[in-house]
Amino acid sequence: MDRPTIAKTPETRKATNMQDYAQTRATFLWDTAEKDIDGFAGGTLNIAHEAINRHVAAGHGDQIALRWIGKKDDVRDFTYHDLQVQTNRFANVLRAEGLTRGDKVYALLGRVPELYIAALGTLKAGCTFCPLFSAFGPEPIHSRLEIGGGNAVITSKRHYKRKLKSLCPDLPDLRRVFLTDGAEDDTVDLAAAMQSASDDFETERMSPEDPALLHFTSGTTGKPKGVVHVHQAVVAHHATGRMALDLRPGDTYWCTADPGWVTGTSYGIVAPLTNRTTMIVDEAEFDVERWYATLEREKVNVWYTAPTAIRMLMKAGAEAAAAHKFPALRFMASVGEPLNPEAVTWSNDTFGMPFHDNWWQTETGGIMIANYAAMDVKPGSMGKPLPGIDAGIVEVTDTGARELTEPMEIGELALRPGWPSMMRAYLNQEQRYQKCFRDGWYLSGDLAMRDEDGYFWFVGRSDDLIKSAGHLIGPFEVESALMEHDAVAEAGVIGVPDETAGEIVKAFVALKPGFEATDDLRLDLIGHARKRLGPAVAPKDIEFRKNLPKTRSGKIMRRLLKARELGLPEGDISTLESDET
Ligand code: ATP
Ligand code: MG
Repeated sequence: MDRPTIAKTPETRKATNMQDYAQTRATFLWDTAEKDIDGFAGGTLNIAHEAINRHVAAGHGDQIALRWIGKKDDVRDFTYHDLQVQTNRFANVLRAEGLTRGDKVYALLGRVPELYIAALGTLKAGCTFCPLFSAFGPEPIHSRLEIGGGNAVITSKRHYKRKLKSLCPDLPDLRRVFLTDGAEDDTVDLAAAMQSASDDFETERMSPEDPALLHFTSGTTGKPKGVVHVHQAVVAHHATGRMALDLRPGDTYWCTADPGWVTGTSYGIVAPLTNRTTMIVDEAEFDVERWYATLEREKVNVWYTAPTAIRMLMKAGAEAAAAHKFPALRFMASVGEPLNPEAVTWSNDTFGMPFHDNWWQTETGGIMIANYAAMDVKPGSMGKPLPGIDAGIVEVTDTGARELTEPMEIGELALRPGWPSMMRAYLNQEQRYQKCFRDGWYLSGDLAMRDEDGYFWFVGRSDDLIKSAGHLIGPFEVESALMEHDAVAEAGVIGVPDETAGEIVKAFVALKPGFEATDDLRLDLIGHARKRLGPAVAPKDIEFRKNLPKTRSGKIMRRLLKARELGLPEGDISTLESDET
């Protein structure tokens, strides 16, 4: 994209964790990064120890680890010491109820303190933790419990009665249900059990390769996959938190993602705690005014959010932000979807610093490609691979994967396996897992390009690439051009089969408040896109929508736009959130 690079001043660079990317990259070794982790004797470790106990042992028990803000603005603070005690009690409760090392403990909870205590207490007990997004209905809950062989669920009365109870007889592995607000049937009253549990628990010594976390992917491209991560992943969570999010001990940090998605666990629980920050957790859903007020009141230093939220902030206008001051804010990052260059420029104008885009997946467990605090930002680029991460652009054919080395060649974004937070399996899908690897590369399923400076640029999901009259068109490029138009709040672009061109580009557009969906506006948008992209790439057709279909983690579901456009089956829609209206 032809937007000016946002350069960092020498003062900014100096005040960052990783002042010199190239130098760090040249010398970085995962074996050395492992030394930042406490670990236990004999090479064993536990994520929860690194997140909590080590800080208490080092004298930081009084620091607030978690500031929880309830929907009604009630606030509860948990120090590192409080978290240590609560997670010990939780682990004791699991033990008392017969859950042992290797068992799988699920949570079906909103962003309440019990969710965070359950996550870390489960890890202490040596069980695998699997967070389920609380708005899931019975079907997605059932399939995820079944695939993972869940042995226990921590939930609330409401969720239990509405969604889980009827599934229980059908889930032979499920032995215990814990309720955070009482007891029903033969469930366990968690609060009562916690109260009588001991404050002491000896954290389980886990082998580096023992499973720790089970995450389901977002379901953007199809049926969600169950991804297994191990305790050793904490080495990557910690190091990437430092390098890519610039986290420092004592920082106030806000990750807006729900732990139901991998970002909300890797960077909404583990990395912020291992790096000894104070994390803000807001139980409520997105709200422009609430978010700005939270950033200001809590003096957030580092903020990690997602493009869909950023686009909503843009939609609300710069005035909404201008009513607040954020002198404490030092670093802002975004993940989950491509971040349109327009959003990067807007944030730089609005906050005096850009959102730093970074790229990773449930499968990679941690950030892989990022714009760093000390690095100049090219709006629209995902940045450069983390130290310790080898990324390439490859062409995949029937005979293998070949790296493309010319600048700006489009190919599949691939990584050399070997970092600690790489997935160890797709649950019950060994073949699918094996198919991700070719000629020493892990194939991400995303298409990207690398420029002459080594910056990576997202093109689209390989499923979403449009082939029109001999051109390969990535939806991101077209969506980003549309986003530059004043009227556009969101855009989703697909290819529609066409006899002569193969496919033609069609865009679905949601407008900002104050704009009307008229034919004139449609023509104006097509004209704007043609000027920016040329007639071969610009959409031939634009349809206005109030909303675009998105996953519950906020990703535009292009496959659904396409299925609906072509009258094809919708496929797995267990993660669909706002439907188009
Ligand atoms: P599924 O695999 O079930 O279809 P998903 O791929 O959306 O869902 P996640 O693992 O949550 O599930 O998301 C990872 C994907 O999100 C990446 O493969 C990529 O397509 C997209 N993504 C994440 N960050 C970025 C980014 N910074 N720029 C562009 N795309 C991104
Ligand atoms: Mg995926």
